[in-house]
Amino acid sequence: MRSRFDEVTALREELEAERQARREAERIAEENARALYDRQDELELLEMVAAASNEATAIEPALGAAIVHVCAHMRWPVGHAYIADEASGALRSTAVWYLEDEARYGAFRDLTEEVGAPGLPMRVVEAGEPSWVADVATEPGFGRAEVAAGAGLRSGFAFPVLMGTDTVGALEFFSDRAAEPDPVLLALMAQIGVQLGRVVERERAREELERSNADLEAFAYLASHDLAAPLRAVGGFVSLLGRRYVDQLDDDAREIIGHAVDGVQRMQTMIDDLLLYSRAGTTDLQREEVAAGELVTAALRDLAPAVAESGAQVEVGELPTVRADATQLQRVFQNLLSNAMKYTAPDVSPRVVVRSGPADGGWEIAVADNGIGIEPRNADRVFEMFARVHGGADYRGTGLGLAICRRIVERHGGRLWVEANPGGGSVFRLTLPR
Ligand code: ADP
Repeated sequence: MRSRFDEVTALREELEAERQARREAERIAEENARALYDRQDELELLEMVAAASNEATAIEPALGAAIVHVCAHMRWPVGHAYIADEASGALRSTAVWYLEDEARYGAFRDLTEEVGAPGLPMRVVEAGEPSWVADVATEPGFGRAEVAAGAGLRSGFAFPVLMGTDTVGALEFFSDRAAEPDPVLLALMAQIGVQLGRVVERERAREELERSNADLEAFAYLASHDLAAPLRAVGGFVSLLGRRYVDQLDDDAREIIGHAVDGVQRMQTMIDDLLLYSRAGTTDLQREEVAAGELVTAALRDLAPAVAESGAQVEVGELPTVRADATQLQRVFQNLLSNAMKYTAPDVSPRVVVRSGPADGGWEIAVADNGIGIEPRNADRVFEMFARVHGGADYRGTGLGLAICRRIVERHGGRLWVEANPGGGSVFRLTLPR
């Protein structure tokens, strides 16, 4: 029979076991809460880096923002970025730093910039993965040990900025306390490295586009400028040949000379358009308050021969006063009206209507025609340089008119696009801010 003592002991043991189980449960709950809290912190860090990356319009500010956020998250005093040269791939130190204490860590920064590509980031770039330094003073190949330890730095790590599988940079961080490798943290940093890699990719593509646009610009200018004079000479001599030897030439020769002069003239138009295109992107806008109606009237006056030849009926509604470069905007109307009278449909008497109305914070002006129209799949293409969708002998042109128009309108802060006219033909619409 169990004694009363035994019963009490058993009860006490039971109680103790229960208490222990409760303590264990509380410990697990607390651990989970902390993990959840850390997770929340990590998510916030990722979100902040993502937001800064999206907003950045250059690589270095994006790296700078990431460094500040990571240092704040870890409460570490030093962060720094390296970037790989696009052409050679060689890693170089950037001027992008976070230093909690300039006086204390300044010497470490200066030495790092002097070395350019120290051991730690080089290791990261070569391996394509993060690397942890438990103690900067004893780490083999670290290279900056003395100055780092002198500034009171203890541990650090670096991780790659990855564009796909290519390492295009590296970020390094240092603490003034000893810190053991933290796999969770390194996984988080790997994600940041991928995010920053996307910024590098995006910004490099943008720079490349700007470069090629500038090249095209320079080419357009040079071509139009330098080709004009010899071409004028060729045209002049061929015409002279026709005139001076008119009695000695037969019809066949005269026809050939006619074709040559015609070719020269077409080339001249193309060169003029190229020059206009390049000017539309570079000359400063002379903005003033102008009545759009007057610009349309002036454009129609210049187009009088085309109006007469096409027999087009042109209707111009009430148009607003806008803030624009009068010469350039008149050119836009002239191109749109000229196209409207050029791309006419057979057996349809041409009709052109210009109307306007308010649009988001500005005006919309539409030039509608009942001509041959533009297929929806070509609606964007017609604005590209040299793009012609109705070529051949029927319609002559350089394919630059609409590219010039779009350039001018966009430089005014507006948009220009084309839609199908429900009544047949096309409607070109442009917007201008107020
Ligand atoms: P161009 O008229 O010198 O060929 P544009 O840049 O002005 O060059 O126009 C590009 C192309 O867009 C034209 O070749 C033509 O195929 C098409 N296009 C332009 N305007 C019209 C229009 N009003 N109706 C139908 N097609 C048009």
